[in-house]
Amino acid sequence: MAAGTSERQATRAAAAARDRRILVSLHDVTPAHFARLRDIVATLERIGVGSRFAMLVVPDFWSRWPLPAHRSFVDWLREQAGRGAEILLHGYTHRDDRHHRHPWHRLRAHWLTAGEGEFLGLDGAEARRRLDTGRTMLEDLLDGPIDGFVAPAWLYGPDSRQALAAAGFEIAEGRWSVWSPRRGRTLARGPVVAYAGRTRGRLMGSLLWSHLAGPLLAGCRVLRLAIHPHDFDHVPLRHEIERFLRRQMETRRCGRYRDLLTSGA
Ligand SMILES: [Zn+2]
Repeated sequence: MAAGTSERQATRAAAAARDRRILVSLHDVTPAHFARLRDIVATLERIGVGSRFAMLVVPDFWSRWPLPAHRSFVDWLREQAGRGAEILLHGYTHRDDRHHRHPWHRLRAHWLTAGEGEFLGLDGAEARRRLDTGRTMLEDLLDGPIDGFVAPAWLYGPDSRQALAAAGFEIAEGRWSVWSPRRGRTLARGPVVAYAGRTRGRLMGSLLWSHLAGPLLAGCRVLRLAIHPHDFDHVPLRHEIERFLRRQMETRRCGRYRDLLTSGA
């Protein structure tokens, strides 16, 4: 009897351990960063992430890097998707070209993101136009449905959120959660672990957060790690990302955003 109980407890503990996940996302997937992206993907392969990561693709980065004009990059992207990488739309140009009247939005747009919060100040019609154009472009190039979106710098205005729901996107991600615009429900909670190397202060802050995040977020069933191409320009960040991933993969499996639709928050 006692043996049966402890066996059941062990089975439950093992199931809970199996269900702990880490979602790895690769931001700013654009031909502008092709060399860096290949480097990162090779690192993920070496660490054992394999193809279980998400690629956040920008259709026309800074209005200077339209995907259709870069065939070898598109071929590489198709290859990654074919191996099982999850493809999500990541803005359209990634650049915030709006003038923000609201001082809080102005602060968030220019201070926190260096002017890359494209979807923060868009009105509903313009957000919808960019979502539709970007999605159609990716679907045509990659021959597969696109129903996940992450706004550049995770910044959304209220109109952008509504446009995502109206466009029927299944998955969207913010700094603090993953949700389904179409279903109107939260899919996962908890802050994303991300890095910044733009200044020495930010770099040190990133390293500190990364070290604290493991223990602080140990209770989160789903942990999210975001990698940006420029992270790999900084050796300390590169090493820390590897350390963090290896440590987390001891107790978590690499999951996909799509799995959250069936498993819930
Ligand atoms: Zn981005």
